[in-house]
Amino acid sequence: MDNRSGKGLSFVKRIYLPRVIGLGIGLFSVAAAVAPLSLPAWAWGLLLFNGLLWPHVAYQWASRSAAPYQAEQRNLLLDSLLGGFWAAAMHFNPLPTVTVLSMMTMNNVAAGGKRLIMHGAMAQLVGMLLASVLLGTGLQLNATPLQIYACLPMLTLYPLALGWVCYRLAIKLGEHKRRLSALSLTDSLTGLLNHGAWKDLLRLSFQACQQQQSPAVIALIDIDHFKTINDTFGHVVGDGVLRQMSEELKRNLREADQAGRYGGDEFCVILPATSEVLACQAMERLREQVASYHNPQLPHLRISLSIGLAAFHTDLQSPEHWLEQADKALYSAKRRGRDQVNSAQGKAPPLRLAYPD
Ligand code: GH3
Ligand code: MG
Repeated sequence: MDNRSGKGLSFVKRIYLPRVIGLGIGLFSVAAAVAPLSLPAWAWGLLLFNGLLWPHVAYQWASRSAAPYQAEQRNLLLDSLLGGFWAAAMHFNPLPTVTVLSMMTMNNVAAGGKRLIMHGAMAQLVGMLLASVLLGTGLQLNATPLQIYACLPMLTLYPLALGWVCYRLAIKLGEHKRRLSALSLTDSLTGLLNHGAWKDLLRLSFQACQQQQSPAVIALIDIDHFKTINDTFGHVVGDGVLRQMSEELKRNLREADQAGRYGGDEFCVILPATSEVLACQAMERLREQVASYHNPQLPHLRISLSIGLAAFHTDLQSPEHWLEQADKALYSAKRRGRDQVNSAQGKAPPLRLAYPD
């Protein structure tokens, strides 16, 4: 399995820029603090490598790894180890030490929470011990003005960079959440509302009709002999017919109408602020258009619809009761020979809204 994708790689990419900025400007804080101490040449080489080259080496190392997430966690621990190393090398000069270690800890919190803080702190301790062994120990408690100024870029720019990365991440998470929520409401084959989402809207519509005494009609639409279409032309054509149905629905309905796929070859529509007569006309037009559908590649394919309508009326006890009325009307349409619109008896107040031609 290829691990070099998804969570691991985007984590590595997210950390790259803050590391380039943080270590690049952290170099000034450390260099100003170790300058008065006689540091061996190899330690200066290590400092330059750490500040300028390590961010790119770390990025390549993690992104080329088979497990980028784990590799980046290791890189973060190496960051902490080197941070501890420079703290001891600076003889714990308070301002640069606190600057470097606290920025590093902030990074560890953002990247790995409590676990990375603990492991990072241990790595810092190991780094301090290493520097004490290799460079000797010392304590430098007074900072010069230059050492103070050299910390300012780190104190101002790094939180900005990390804050920016967190902000971008929050925006991305918000987008993912919206996309997932839209997916959870949509039928994947037709792009219409799925059963659950449509039923939720039916409940809302029922409440609105009750409270405002406004008219509305629901329609249940079932394709006639759909099993035969599947058996004769195959399921791929059957799927195409279902998609074609959703297109016809979108074309024939108004923006306020809510169409869904109830399941299988059955579709459902809420027609708000609509009289029974108007809803009947709209559904009759849909039935005729679907009946006249002609596919030159499949000249024998014919599609007919049975449609049951139920207008809202005050005697209805629940959304389910309303749906039951539409289902009964659909059942009657099937029994009377299919290919027709049938309406349950209702007493909706007339309100005329135009349908597209
Ligand atoms: P009727 O005229 O009484 O409605 O008869 P019918 O053949 O349409 O019977 P019914 O509505 O019970 O059959 C629905 C069929 O739809 C059964 C099932 O195999 C098929 N079906 C359900 N979902 C899908 C789908 O996503 N794609 C395809 N191609 N077929 C589906
Ligand atoms: Mg059917």
